[in-house]
Amino acid sequence: MPPSNQPVKRKRGEGQWKLGHREPLNPNERTKKDDDGLNVRARIENVYAKRGFDSIDPADLRGRMRWWGLYTQRKPGIDGGRTAALEPEELDDRYFMLRVRIDGGALTTEQLRAVGEISRDHARDTADVTDRQNIQYHWIEIESMPAIWERLEGLGLLTTEACGDTPRVILGSPVAGISAAEEVDPTWAIDTILDRYIGSPEFSNLPRKFKTAISWQQDVAHEVNDVSFIGVEHPEHGPGFDVWVGGGLSTNPKIAQRLGTWVALEDIPDVWAGIISIFRDYGYRRLRHRARIKFLIADWGAAEFRRVLEEEYLGRPLADGPAPAIPEIPIDHVGVHKQVDGRNYIGVAPASGRVSGGTLIDLADAAEAAGSGRVRLTAQQKIVVLDVPDENVEALVARLNTLGLQAEPSPWRRSTMACTGIEYCKLAIVETKERAIRLVDDLEKRLADLHPDVPISIHLNGCPNSCARTQVADIGLKGQIVTDAAGDQVEGFQVHLGGGLGLDAGFGRKLRGLKVTSAELGEYVDRVVRRFVEQRTEGERFAQ
Ligand code: SF4
Repeated sequence: MPPSNQPVKRKRGEGQWKLGHREPLNPNERTKKDDDGLNVRARIENVYAKRGFDSIDPADLRGRMRWWGLYTQRKPGIDGGRTAALEPEELDDRYFMLRVRIDGGALTTEQLRAVGEISRDHARDTADVTDRQNIQYHWIEIESMPAIWERLEGLGLLTTEACGDTPRVILGSPVAGISAAEEVDPTWAIDTILDRYIGSPEFSNLPRKFKTAISWQQDVAHEVNDVSFIGVEHPEHGPGFDVWVGGGLSTNPKIAQRLGTWVALEDIPDVWAGIISIFRDYGYRRLRHRARIKFLIADWGAAEFRRVLEEEYLGRPLADGPAPAIPEIPIDHVGVHKQVDGRNYIGVAPASGRVSGGTLIDLADAAEAAGSGRVRLTAQQKIVVLDVPDENVEALVARLNTLGLQAEPSPWRRSTMACTGIEYCKLAIVETKERAIRLVDDLEKRLADLHPDVPISIHLNGCPNSCARTQVADIGLKGQIVTDAAGDQVEGFQVHLGGGLGLDAGFGRKLRGLKVTSAELGEYVDRVVRRFVEQRTEGERFAQ
């Protein structure tokens, strides 16, 4: 106790609304208070798209436009060594990246064709499949947005809250509703959350982004989402969902914690709304780098979080529930597989998620010619074609192969992912996408004699933000400027070894001094993989 004549030091608030901290404590919170990010849509359509880039209010340009999936892309020609030294506006190009949210990764072939045509007509043929089942365009001009929205929304596709401090795209199993391994198809819950809450002012001002995954199967990286619902069989209640909260990567990685509850399918939307409401009300808004829900969970613990959820938000207790069994190997749905109805789904691997508008249009044509009307994107930057009759499988696999979409990829093509990187991302320090594509080609030659029977994942990231999940890869690569053998500063990577999800859920070891230049990457991975394969004991996985 302080002596009575000294003022009591108050514990500094973290900006939690529920504790009375309503006055914005940083510029991002101020921008959100000044105007809801959702309101920028009208300004884009009525003003900015007509008057052009220079008419855009800076607070909209660098803040609220994200609520509709728009970020300015990086100005070409600025090397990664200067990224941190420049002001954001110095890195801004006059073009935008646009993210289309594909909740559950689900697209009809008609939607897929439209996505491809928009790329061809407005995005210089760019289209990346992200590891959050989005499609990401580049080179978008503000003048194009009304036409793009008209086309997308006419087919039921949205860019609403694809970025920003909002509930982002909801990850779902690419084989929901067709897989024999699934007991309950949770698509209804994804659609209901989308209909009720996405684009609603109720959740359009969160402390930061909020990532959701809902799947019966463990194919959505549920351990590193803000909230996940994963299928589990309860001995009394039957099939339902296990709830995980507080996962996330970036500079302060956390594996999500289980709340220990069992939730029926029909209760998922309400429980989801309760959890995101806790984040909105109790989330930390003072410091941006502490504003994700993982920091709240880390401070409260799962038991206290569950108590607040039940008592303050749901008004009822949830049933206790068991943990789901963990699959032996990661599930990526690549290859040809049987559906419950006897038809087939075919998972294909574009190199590091990079496709193009033309490829997507060709894919839609090929799928339809094979009798399919549906495709799905995966959380591993892959694509799955559904509903293919037996007699059309072989021809479709061959045709997809000609598009660079391989159903029988090498282990390296199959398990390599890359974030956007310096080509377009303003935070990037190094190039990643094209580097990953070259790395896959290189490894396919170097390691043609090796056939490891366990997947070895390689994730390339352009900076510490870990959009392509650096810390949970077998070989995680975090972009930074390194010194090469000649003493020059060049693009390279800090290496994290032995991270994983599922059975190996945990973060890779960042070995001191273990850095590799971008140019040496193929040689380095070759060496690490050969050593693992040669020294491996039976049944050993890379992360062990
Ligand atoms: Fe950009 Fe960094 Fe994310 Fe890569 S990891 S997309 S470089 S923010």
